[in-house]
Amino acid sequence: MDCNTNSKSREISLGRAKELHSRIEDYLKVKDQIIKGTTKKQMISAKAKKEKILKMFDATEEDWNNWKWQLKNRISDVDVLKEIIYLSDKELEDIRQVGKQFRWSISPYYASLIDDDNKYCPVKLMSIPTGVEIEDLEGDTDPMGEEFTNPAGSITRRYPDRLIINVTNECAMYCRHCQRRRNIGGVDRHQPREVLQESIDYIRDNPEIRDVLITGGDPLTLSNDMLDWLLKEITAIETVDYVRLGSRTLVTMPQRVDDEFLEMMEKYSPIFINTHFNHPQEITPETIEACRKLAKAGVPLGNQAVLLNGVNNDKFVMRLLNHELLKSKVRPYYIFHAKHVIGTTHFNTSIDDGIEIMEYLRGYTSGMAIPTYIVNAPKGRGKTPILPQYMVSRGKGFVKIRTWEGKMVDYPNHETRPIESYFE
Ligand code: SF4
Repeated sequence: MDCNTNSKSREISLGRAKELHSRIEDYLKVKDQIIKGTTKKQMISAKAKKEKILKMFDATEEDWNNWKWQLKNRISDVDVLKEIIYLSDKELEDIRQVGKQFRWSISPYYASLIDDDNKYCPVKLMSIPTGVEIEDLEGDTDPMGEEFTNPAGSITRRYPDRLIINVTNECAMYCRHCQRRRNIGGVDRHQPREVLQESIDYIRDNPEIRDVLITGGDPLTLSNDMLDWLLKEITAIETVDYVRLGSRTLVTMPQRVDDEFLEMMEKYSPIFINTHFNHPQEITPETIEACRKLAKAGVPLGNQAVLLNGVNNDKFVMRLLNHELLKSKVRPYYIFHAKHVIGTTHFNTSIDDGIEIMEYLRGYTSGMAIPTYIVNAPKGRGKTPILPQYMVSRGKGFVKIRTWEGKMVDYPNHETRPIESYFE
């Protein structure tokens, strides 16, 4: 290549680089305005709330870092809550009214993340009841038809080679958008050991099951002893390849990741944890530390966000969330389209919102930062991926594709020749 060609190529490359930069200029302009759990102002506010809570509960730093203290002291009294966060008279009355119908409770840690300066603080929206929960009681209680996919014990089986064991209805916090709200009920209840044993026996009797997801409620509210027993029993089944834990506790009570728990994760490896971060404000120094420890213990971490109106149905919020997750060693795995569940329908978005988010992830950021957008087909018919249209038409000999920048391109679609034919 001569010098002229070199300078020509460089000129073209520089022009293209400028064009690529312009593709994300809008995001670069707004990303620093989105509150993260590590934004300085947010960290100062969380620290002040934490100190206030410790004083109110006559507790110490050691208590704060102990998950049992956090769980025992979940806040579910509006008079306590109003001392920690700002609530208007209407909000106070709404919480009282909603509480008669739907349970609420929030860990002191998660309460400390609420930003009083933001009327639509995403952490508040996800944790504090609002009047709309009882104003519009449209929706289903069991959109997944889980009642009809329970062949034994506390199992949910919707797929050929994997299943779920529901171990408890208890959570560190009762999310306002919970899609399993009917299970949460009014009191905390772990599944009795006989029911769990029946579930384990079912797995043993069905050797095609190679992947077991333990969920709830939140399985990380179980004691370490109980979890140890469960993991020991399941991982002893030779036909089970690995276990997954589905938990939001990493987000709402990261103190749960104690030394004993980490040892257990190493002991029964491979164990995968799928967690549930929905907004960058939830990614705090505490959650980052918990994720880092789990990654060090060899636990692959994935995130299952739920697309929620007013929380993350924004292409830039979701992009930032995925970037912050990767920095915390968590791979964005799914974005679930929120189901039509009673008391949560104000969180519902259109499918178009989800498609727009996906459209502005592919190409605009690394493939690792792109989860799969999933609609759960009603009545347990399974996860269905939804994508923007990239293959416009498919013909014999070529397909027409649309690139991430919207350019139409013909791409060859030759028949696959048997491999042997190349060597004849
Ligand atoms: S942690 Fe999960 S199961 Fe528990 S309330 Fe929140 S979304 Fe529902």
